[in-house]
Amino acid sequence: MRTEIPRTHPRYESLVVREKLVEGFEEGYVVPQGLIAHGRGECFDYLIGENTIEPALKAMKAAAAALLLARHPVISVNGNVAALVPGDVVKLARAVNAKIEVNLFYRSEERARKIAEVLRSHGADEVLGVNDATATIPELFSERRRVSPRGIYVADVVLVALEDGDRTEALRKMGKTVIAIDLNPLSRTSLAASITIVDNVVRAIPKLVDLLKSVRTESRNHLEEILRSYSNNEVLSEVLDHINQRLRELSEKLRVKTRSPGEP
Ligand code: ATP
Ligand code: MG
Repeated sequence: MRTEIPRTHPRYESLVVREKLVEGFEEGYVVPQGLIAHGRGECFDYLIGENTIEPALKAMKAAAAALLLARHPVISVNGNVAALVPGDVVKLARAVNAKIEVNLFYRSEERARKIAEVLRSHGADEVLGVNDATATIPELFSERRRVSPRGIYVADVVLVALEDGDRTEALRKMGKTVIAIDLNPLSRTSLAASITIVDNVVRAIPKLVDLLKSVRTESRNHLEEILRSYSNNEVLSEVLDHINQRLRELSEKLRVKTRSPGEP
């Protein structure tokens, strides 16, 4: 690690995560815009309490069912995801027999190649989207429209993290089930996805791998039932309720402190 962070620092874990992104940036596969996106995520993480909350677990269960029922599941990887959870992405892909595809908003073949290398060094056998991003997603103008004809283009279920709203909408219009991992419950991605896991990608992907161990033993009928009864709007409402309640409790605590005598 570039900067030594003392283990006793109260925000040790969060700082380690930042260091991983800075390393990815220095190695040339995380873009500066990715660092900004991470900052926005951190803000929402503070609001939810930097923990995996109940509505996220509910969404993860539906995500696990969708991935297990999928015929062509694909995990889409960008620079931030490669810097933060490369090994967990490989484990998840193995657990549900999914393909891994590099997909970048700020695309260059060089970045795509570096990300594929990172994933391979963590055990990925095949990484799509490097020299084969020859198909295009209709109605989309960013470089993210370029996809592999063997991956996202033909996928029925796509898992994305730190995704852009336009692309999520375009993938939905193509009839795909989109699973998003996004700390902001108000982003266009969160609102447009079929299943939104409002959690930090560093907690969500390992948890999803873990959850799959039990969900995979369920019958096909039961998995279908989990998906039928899932409502993403309901889950997003629950996330907002969680934040609301948490902020109310925190504000009340401060008020009690203000009233208590002896306050400096
Ligand atoms: P949208 O395009 O969906 O409206 P946006 O333009 O606000 O969203 P983008 O930069 O397109 O944001 O996407 C980044 C998203 O990823 C943000 O919503 C941010 O909160 C989220 N995010 C950042 N870091 C993490 C992380 N570590 N884990 C999960 N989500 C994250
Ligand atoms: Mg965006």
